[in-house]
Amino acid sequence: MRTLIRGGTLVSAEGAEPADVLVEDEIVAAIASPGSGLADVWQEGADTVVDASGRYVIPGGIDAHTHMEMPFGGTWSSDTFETGTRAAAWGGTTMIIDFAIQTKGESLAAGVDTWREKSDGVCAIDYSLHAIITDVNESSLKEMDALVGEGVTSFKLFMAYPGVFYSTDKDILRAMDRAAGNGALIMMHAENGIAIDAIVESAVARGQTDPIFHGLTRPAELEGEAAARAIRLAQVTKAPLYIVHLSSEPALDAVVEARSRGQNTFAETCPQYLFLSQDDMARPGFEGAKFVCTPPLRPREHQAVLWRGLRTDQLSVVSTDHCPFCYAEQKELGVGDFTKIPNGLPGVEHRMDLIYQGVVAGQISLPRWVEITSTTPAKMFGLYPKKGVIAPGSDADIVVYDPSATQVISASTHHMAVDYSCYEGMQITGRVERVYSRGRPVIEGGTYLGSAGHGRFVSRALCQGLQ
Ligand SMILES: [Zn+2]
Repeated sequence: MRTLIRGGTLVSAEGAEPADVLVEDEIVAAIASPGSGLADVWQEGADTVVDASGRYVIPGGIDAHTHMEMPFGGTWSSDTFETGTRAAAWGGTTMIIDFAIQTKGESLAAGVDTWREKSDGVCAIDYSLHAIITDVNESSLKEMDALVGEGVTSFKLFMAYPGVFYSTDKDILRAMDRAAGNGALIMMHAENGIAIDAIVESAVARGQTDPIFHGLTRPAELEGEAAARAIRLAQVTKAPLYIVHLSSEPALDAVVEARSRGQNTFAETCPQYLFLSQDDMARPGFEGAKFVCTPPLRPREHQAVLWRGLRTDQLSVVSTDHCPFCYAEQKELGVGDFTKIPNGLPGVEHRMDLIYQGVVAGQISLPRWVEITSTTPAKMFGLYPKKGVIAPGSDADIVVYDPSATQVISASTHHMAVDYSCYEGMQITGRVERVYSRGRPVIEGGTYLGSAGHGRFVSRALCQGLQ
């Protein structure tokens, strides 16, 4: 099976130039400059020729932070691996990395097995797993080594959610120490959950139960404090650290300081922190619940700081933290008590389009768009150059992107299994036109051609982004 993608502008993390791309079966076979005449030769033997004139040809997006069918607060995130990966493909994402959660008292491997059962055989695109450690003990520490050998090379810990996912500094230090030895990447949810619990308790005691208080009880300073503490713990152990869903200036300050002294510290932010704000949580009635996620949406002035971070490589990656809950019946669990609102937002479908708006607005360059949504996630999580780049030998995970089409985001047209959109009515420029997953067409001109089970589990190497 040979597919020739002709006449487009090939965009990589390094730059953008006109190029023709030949795909053979599942991989990128060759790339030619348009003047070379090679594409004419290739066209002879091609099964399909795609005219990509006026289009960008980019490596498929990699969303390194999703939560499909994740248990939370007595309910489950509403996308399954089947619906969630299909929605991801619609939006130009060709790989996700989800999180397998260790149940306290059980092994890390049992968590991975549970998540493999949910994901194997149903994904539309390739997928992999990080492991969440909730129970740091001798045997789970040993298990980290074994999981690294099986391609689960990143482990997430929480400084938030006491009594649920929370790890003490002692636990964190031990896990980091292990990671420093086995090469794994430690991922951190950085918020001081102990202090936040005290603030939440007094708010609830005062009767402050509306959705906005989810945001007001989790101040940015306590994200900054936790990020700085995680960074110092990592520094002591010499483990690399990746801070997930960084949302605020104090946390970014800590990352910038660590990076400036050469410490292997990385952070991702998410579209919701770039486009939404605390004001959304204050919408009338209970509507603010649609915007309840953790860390919370911040006052608007943090957005420009995060864009600057993306532009200047203080922030390395944009992931979604996709964790959708329907407004009806799920978000509504928290009517009259914001602490019962399931935490999380839908987003896996719109990351590529939303971050492209940063290119349209001049916040980031075109190559930087590809770098933070695909190439760096691939390097950070041990997938490069199989993923994250269009180069001979790479998986043919390719998106043909129309930079001038316009669209309006709406729950009535999106493909995620959730009854609202955080970006309802938002007009955007740019649109995914075609998506290939390992050479196979998944999206073509507004039609889904993929299938559940095409996506394969990808065993990952160690982090390739270390300085
Ligand atoms: Zn998350």
